[in-house]
Amino acid sequence: LMFGKARTCNIVTIPEHEPAECNIVVLGAIGSGKSALTVKFLTKRFISEYDPNLEDTYSSEEMVDQQPVQVRVMDTADQDGPVNCERYLAWASAFLVVYSIDNKCSFEICQQYLEMVTPYTKGLQPESPIILLGNKVDMERYRQVSQTDGETLAARFGCTFFEVSACLDFPSVQHVFHEAVREARRE
Ligand code: GDP
Ligand code: MG
Repeated sequence: LMFGKARTCNIVTIPEHEPAECNIVVLGAIGSGKSALTVKFLTKRFISEYDPNLEDTYSSEEMVDQQPVQVRVMDTADQDGPVNCERYLAWASAFLVVYSIDNKCSFEICQQYLEMVTPYTKGLQPESPIILLGNKVDMERYRQVSQTDGETLAARFGCTFFEVSACLDFPSVQHVFHEAVREARRE
């Protein structure tokens, strides 16, 4: 059941409900497509050239399973793998760890992120969800990381796994971010 605008009765005012919040941090190697995925989720558009050094946090009010949620996305821009992790560890309600399927090195960097983040989330009550995300499936011809490699790494760290492309359809990218919200709600 949704709550609409504030309703004024004779005596009491029923306030509009504050939407729930979900903070998603996007991690991964430079060039894996973190910014492209973030921008796609927020605008439905693929921006091919994005400042690789820009780290920013965006906010969007989303409906996930008919429930409103204020989603904040921190698009990180680490230069050499996990550094200064304090800036997002406590902030994040969900982690999106991204690699590019056409770049084995970006996959190895994901492993470093998972090794850093997982011990932290395991200590939380409730545990924050982590999603491993293979990006650039449109680059199938240049694939260096098999789907099985992705599934195996995800299973090892107990996270959900998806493959998408920031430059293909919007719904599959939206699905990943919404799954992060769903998993964070479930915890
Ligand atoms: P970031 O450093 O992780 O934020 O990566 P960017 O979002 O800046 O993307 C790095 C490069 O990969 C850019 O040239 C993008 O245009 C390109 N890119 C991002 N996502 C995709 C994708 O899904 N498919 C293809 N072919 N290129 C992508
Ligand atoms: Mg970026």
